[in-house]
Amino acid sequence: MKDVMVAKFGGSSLADSKQFNKVKDIITSNTNRRYIIPSAPGKRHKGDHKITDLLFMCYQLASHKLNIDEVFSIIETRFCDICRDLDLSLDIAGILMKIKREIQEGSSKDYAGSRGEYLNALILSSYLGFEFIDAKDLIFFDDKGQFDSMATEKKIATVLPSSSYAVIPGFYGAKPSGEILTFSRGGSDITGALIASGVHASIYENWTDVSGFLMADPNIVSNPKEIEVITYKELRELSYMGAPVLHEESIFPVKAKRIPICIKNTNAIDDVGTMIVDDLSPVNYSGTITGIAGKKDFTVISIEKTLMNSDVGFMRKLITVFETNDIAIEHMPSSIDSVSLIISTELLHSKLKKVLEEIRIYCKPDSITCYPNMALIAVVGRGMIKTKGISAKIFTALAYSGINIRMITQGSSELNIIVGVQNADYEGAIAAIYEAFNQENKEI
Ligand code: ASP
Repeated sequence: MKDVMVAKFGGSSLADSKQFNKVKDIITSNTNRRYIIPSAPGKRHKGDHKITDLLFMCYQLASHKLNIDEVFSIIETRFCDICRDLDLSLDIAGILMKIKREIQEGSSKDYAGSRGEYLNALILSSYLGFEFIDAKDLIFFDDKGQFDSMATEKKIATVLPSSSYAVIPGFYGAKPSGEILTFSRGGSDITGALIASGVHASIYENWTDVSGFLMADPNIVSNPKEIEVITYKELRELSYMGAPVLHEESIFPVKAKRIPICIKNTNAIDDVGTMIVDDLSPVNYSGTITGIAGKKDFTVISIEKTLMNSDVGFMRKLITVFETNDIAIEHMPSSIDSVSLIISTELLHSKLKKVLEEIRIYCKPDSITCYPNMALIAVVGRGMIKTKGISAKIFTALAYSGINIRMITQGSSELNIIVGVQNADYEGAIAAIYEAFNQENKEI
């Protein structure tokens, strides 16, 4: 639909009546913002509770036949306060009473968890004067609980064009039986992306409490620059390595339709935000990297075997050991006679001894060495493929900081360079790399 904008507002954007006011101003400032997807009220301040957490807690108490009055009253107060402050005529107390009874009488976990979005959407639609369309009538899962993209897309495309302005709760949908199912936590982002895709929106806006993606973790680098434009692929790389702002799965529906996502800050509307664009659209390359992200706690298993390169089937056998133990391999850098497998330490957990024994039996290596406490850092940038010296800059920065690089891989798309360092060097390495790319005219 031409010029249609879909806007999703996160939990902190709708945490209280003041936030609702800001959201209304944003929505009404552009009449193209036609389909609005709210999350449940989030935290208003540090130490506050998310409504979804409280609802899940009520479910847990009820499923153990315990009293939910105390926890549910916090939920009631939050919603009643919002409705009172906004002067809405909605019978919120009556709706809450019904939900409480359903939870007490043994409703499912997903049903209980989804009610925060349901209630917030009812409130927002009444506040805006938009139609309320329940997500259970638009977003579908099959009998086995798998998301049904075909049925969902079809329904959205038939229902929404006849509604000029609508609010649709995020996070949940329904099975053919009508049973409510939720996406994983943070799943309202997915709902927003599905609606944007279903109506062929011109843009999918995702309003949150940060002004987009930052080039590096602000807990490590002070005042990192914001990323103004990033491609879907770059975002995948950065999100995977631990720079979450959006739910990972929310990229796929919009990516398929080449709809840009714009991350904006409800509390700082003039900030540019981050635009996430199609990998194929011409994106200016600014001459530097896009971002740096990383994760700690990997284990490197290094395997040596003379003439490994000519031992047909060696790699298959090695991978089979990990596959049959349900362990995913993150990276596998290799040389002629050796290969290293980089695995999340959490996944290896209690299986390490068993896995090593199976490698010895099945692959007959000359030696196996394990290096725990490794961190991986991904330096991501679409310009890498065209620019000389990016890796030199990374490695020089690390060398100047006295950080030993234990492993290097470059993705075949030349979108990233991944370096492995000791956990203890993780923060120092990120800071050094960030600085190398952000100090004006700095030659290292
Ligand atoms: N309210 C849900 C959660 O807290 C979903 C969302 O906010 O996107 O995970």
